[in-house]
Amino acid sequence: MTKIQMTTPLVEMDGDEMTRIIWQMIKDELICPFVDLKTEYYDLGLEHRNETDDAVTVESAEATKRLGVAVKCATITANAARVEEYGLKQMWKSPNGTIRAMLDGTVFRAPIVVRGIEPCVRNWEAPITLARHAYGDVYKNAEMRVPGAGKVELVYTAADGSEQRELVHEFDGPGVVQGMHNLDASIESFARSCFNYALDIKQDVWFSTKDTISKKYDHRFKDIFQEIFDAEYKERFDAAGIEYFYTLIDDAVARVMKSKGGFIWACKNYDGDVMSDMVSSAFGSLAMMTSVLVSPEGVYEYEAAHGTVQRHYYKHLKGEETSTNSVATIFAWSGALRKRGELDELPELMAFADRLEKATLDTIEAGEMTGDLALITTLENPVKLSTRAFIQAIAKRLAA
Ligand code: NAP
Ligand code: MG
Repeated sequence: MTKIQMTTPLVEMDGDEMTRIIWQMIKDELICPFVDLKTEYYDLGLEHRNETDDAVTVESAEATKRLGVAVKCATITANAARVEEYGLKQMWKSPNGTIRAMLDGTVFRAPIVVRGIEPCVRNWEAPITLARHAYGDVYKNAEMRVPGAGKVELVYTAADGSEQRELVHEFDGPGVVQGMHNLDASIESFARSCFNYALDIKQDVWFSTKDTISKKYDHRFKDIFQEIFDAEYKERFDAAGIEYFYTLIDDAVARVMKSKGGFIWACKNYDGDVMSDMVSSAFGSLAMMTSVLVSPEGVYEYEAAHGTVQRHYYKHLKGEETSTNSVATIFAWSGALRKRGELDELPELMAFADRLEKATLDTIEAGEMTGDLALITTLENPVKLSTRAFIQAIAKRLAA
């Protein structure tokens, strides 16, 4: 059999623990037998990040900007316990944080829908994609406890020294106060990422804030989205037969629950944090979610939404059998290969990505699945497979 050819390499970001084991299995069993895989390899495993003083993370993000498409394995975010476990030189920053900051993107997460794993919300027929703004608001706030009576003001000091003040509250007893910010530039790139992604997957964009209450802050988000949409996207949306729809966050929540799904829901940072956990758990499991970072320049980084599944890895190290779900990592690969195929005009590579996803879903629908899904499936008599056996069951279907 001749293998499918690639022209431009993918940026391959290897990772840690159980997902690193799965990574190799996916390449060996599901990709390399069929595709003449070309990648530029970066080892983001914690040991190598430590050896390179984390330079490898920065290099992998630069390569992504240069080549346009990356696929990333889950990685350990160092904490005090990991510093000790791996003898780290320092508590390295989150690789995802570093990469997001360099690519300036928006993270899109969508559930992988399969028969047998049913959403709790009966009317959801198609996945809902959450687009979460990843900069500012309460995540970069300044806050204080107010000890007692006194006045709290917002003070803006311009470069020329002139001041502008706004009273927050005249306290007559103790309380709390918080200051938040965002940047027009960041909101603009959030809007463009959402509109570009919508054109990519041909789905409507819903955007929601609380602009009736937050007449300057949230209203700025609403205005920027509308201005960018009207100036740059309206015609292309019309041509693609899709819509941009703005509504208040509370109205959006009610509509989402009653919808059939099949759209992109753009949320401010906090709303996106809360709503993505609600949407993903209502659809089944974190291991059944796609996740892609899209930069405003149209650079793509595909990953799994879950972590390195440490508990399973320690079992694996002890020689015990594991049943770790590889679906999100497989879909990170298929997403990246499809995008590469699209950009390089390689229809065979795009078709392979479709076949890989179909073989994965067919395997689950045939009742062969990992333990996490066997627990929640509506299929009768599911067969619980080990980590490797599940990937091999997919490989068998793919070869056929
Ligand atoms: P986790 O890896 O997401 O796993 C938490 C638990 O969720 C697992 O113990 C397992 O439950 C279940 N689970 C998650 N993914 C699964 C899968 N593919 N198949 C089956 N079950 C799955 O989170 P964690 O253990 O808290 O974090 C481990 C490391 O991952 C941390 O060092 C963290 O920094 C890192 N992390 C990385 C990323 C990323 O790179 N994108 C994201 C989050 C966390 P049971 O044990 O009950 O089976
Ligand atoms: Mg959260």
